[in-house]
Amino acid sequence: MINPDILKQLLVAPGKKLRLKDHDTGWAQTKELKELGKDEVKAQARVILDQNLADLAEAQDLLYADDRYSVLVVFQAMDAAGKDGTIKHVMSGVNPQGCQVSNFKKPSSEDLEHDFLWRCTKCLPERGHIGIFNRSYYEEVLVVKVHPELLDSQRLPPGKRGKAFWTKRYEDINSFEKHLVRNGTVILKFFLHVSKEEQKRRFLDRLERPEKNWKFSASDLSERAFWDEYMDAYEAALEATSTKSAPWYVIPADNKWAARSVVADVLTTKIRSLDLQYPVVSEEQRKKLEEARRGLMAE
Ligand code: ATP
Ligand code: MG
Repeated sequence: MINPDILKQLLVAPGKKLRLKDHDTGWAQTKELKELGKDEVKAQARVILDQNLADLAEAQDLLYADDRYSVLVVFQAMDAAGKDGTIKHVMSGVNPQGCQVSNFKKPSSEDLEHDFLWRCTKCLPERGHIGIFNRSYYEEVLVVKVHPELLDSQRLPPGKRGKAFWTKRYEDINSFEKHLVRNGTVILKFFLHVSKEEQKRRFLDRLERPEKNWKFSASDLSERAFWDEYMDAYEAALEATSTKSAPWYVIPADNKWAARSVVADVLTTKIRSLDLQYPVVSEEQRKKLEEARRGLMAE
């Protein structure tokens, strides 16, 4: 398990000011880690990831059998921060029957006929399931805040689109999440925090290696030009919507192994902390099972 002090540091404390600049995107999160050195930290992260993947598979089995809670995991990040890879690795050991991944790209014309939460509501996980959101309704206070002209296509009632407008969107999101939590959905939100330099390296890699070319799109560069605006939008959104019951974690994402082990650790720890139980077999059911067993033996 990862040192709880480190996890606490990555958590966006509810009601507290968030400064992303104070969050390191690398692996040296604490003095102790720095002293250990990168190779040792990396080796330990691998062990933690492997252990957590095994634990997560077990925890998911119990979540499914218990059938009361669902788990919603939200991933938000700048392009090339590693959302896809993190999801692929962290969920690699879980039973696909109990897990679904939803991607949210530019809204369709049908999506735009509805309120901004509608398309995500349709993809919420059933009880017993883990639902992963690769991007989410948070895009509505991130990309849409950075490019407010996107609001034009939403055909909202008239009104100013200033600070109060965005505050209300944060409030709507908080109310939505509160409703979900009260009804049995556990919510974890991860911001994969990559540095601008690392994003450049990864874009160059995508441009220079033919087998990675498909991962690059021209809009990646145009959005990179809005880096500072995005950081401001992330800071404001995470600060306003990190709550005790639906917290945000700022995940250092310059090293893929670090991001993956932290996400797996937080997720596993959370599911294990629920009071999950395998369904108890009643006396009457036990008798029926015994009858069935005898019937089979007598064949
Ligand atoms: P990848 O690049 O790994 O395939 P991606 O999630 O970046 O995955 P893209 O098709 O490149 O997928 O980008 C999706 C785009 O859709 C992003 O730029 C995102 O900001 C945008 N988007 C998502 N939700 C909304 C929204 N509600 N309104 C406007 N744009 C949105
Ligand atoms: Mg993209």
